[in-house]
Amino acid sequence: MINSSNHTDSRRQFLRQAGLAAATVAVAGPAGALPLGAAAPLADSPRKVGFAIVGLGKYATEQMMPAFKESKHCKIVALVSGSPDKAQRLAQEYGVEAKSIYSYQDFDRIKDNPAVDVVYVVLPPALHAEYVVRAAQAGKHVLTEKPMAPSVAECQRMIDACRKAGKQLMVAYRAQFEPFNLDAIARIRKGELGKLRFVTADHGRQVSPTTDKADEWRVVQKLAGGGSLMDIGIYSLNAARYLTGEEPVEVSATESTDRTDPRFKEVEDQVHFTLRFPSGVLATCTSAYSIEGVKRFRAFGSKAYLDLDPATDYYRHRMVIGNADGELTTSMKEGNQFAAMLDHMAECAQQNKTPKTPGEEGLRDIKLILAIYESAKKGRPVKV
Ligand code: NAD
Repeated sequence: MINSSNHTDSRRQFLRQAGLAAATVAVAGPAGALPLGAAAPLADSPRKVGFAIVGLGKYATEQMMPAFKESKHCKIVALVSGSPDKAQRLAQEYGVEAKSIYSYQDFDRIKDNPAVDVVYVVLPPALHAEYVVRAAQAGKHVLTEKPMAPSVAECQRMIDACRKAGKQLMVAYRAQFEPFNLDAIARIRKGELGKLRFVTADHGRQVSPTTDKADEWRVVQKLAGGGSLMDIGIYSLNAARYLTGEEPVEVSATESTDRTDPRFKEVEDQVHFTLRFPSGVLATCTSAYSIEGVKRFRAFGSKAYLDLDPATDYYRHRMVIGNADGELTTSMKEGNQFAAMLDHMAECAQQNKTPKTPGEEGLRDIKLILAIYESAKKGRPVKV
């Protein structure tokens, strides 16, 4: 359904010109709809796919663990934590057996736990590689948080370990399972905006290490691997890639950081970067750690533009499509992107299928992020 925000005549004219009316119904999927290209749905399975959660921090406990309750095929069966009290409390809440609580030191014992099919790594980025490799060596499929790891070598080590073990590796790019984002991609592919010409994508927030424990590692280079670009600029970058459906051939970037701000002794604040795609499409992207929250993108075509603002939030996305004749706000049921992503991982584990966002997808972003840093440092475009 489309709700007009402008005059009816202008809306009709716009609808006719942009050919949007019919398309909206077709692409607005049900809540939690599987993404385009996802593995076939699992048949009703008597046993849910068992997940071990590694790292019981803010994102794991506040977003991802509650999402298991809304997933169709997933169950938390083990916890890995440095805090036994926290682990015991969460084990009770999620029905995890006491013998399936592990410390980081004895994590490798998980190989003897047949209830665990998938290990989900929700640690600071610099720790992802170690736990992904140990999980693969324990014979488990792996889901890891973004950014995959701070270096190309670590990403490759993660891919190689999972390949050697014959296990699937997926990077948790939740936006690629979120219905508004999937709708935006479908509209662009169908040509509803005309010929895509450029994309802008912005991600920023205030990083607050003194008041938010989850931000402490974000300002430490050896744990985060970088500043705003690694942590949230990756959403701008990944969106530019999935909206265009192309891989950049050149990046250019500039950085601005107030090094007198105690938050930015080690990591950068702002990065502005441009990606050049083979078709001639340009994407202008930003990331910042010193502004009020923004998580948005806009795709500009020859006939219309599409705004998603917020684009990569947890809930309450808002899409507007417009041209000179007016704007249309689309309404669609919010899906649970977290549960959709978990169910996709479960299907890939059960069917041993390559995930929609495999290790190679995470590696591609890391190569580009490192090229963006290089361009900012050298002050010139870098071919990729
Ligand atoms: P957090 O600090 O709340 O959680 C990190 C966890 O790792 C904590 O439980 C901490 O105790 C544990 N840990 C183990 N060893 C550690 C060490 N040496 N140093 C610091 N922590 C250590 O952070 P978070 O915001 O929950 O982020 C965790 C991961 O989730 C990161 O990879 C982050 O990028 C990702 N994340 C993803 C999203 C998303 O929307 N996809 C959102 C937030 C965070």
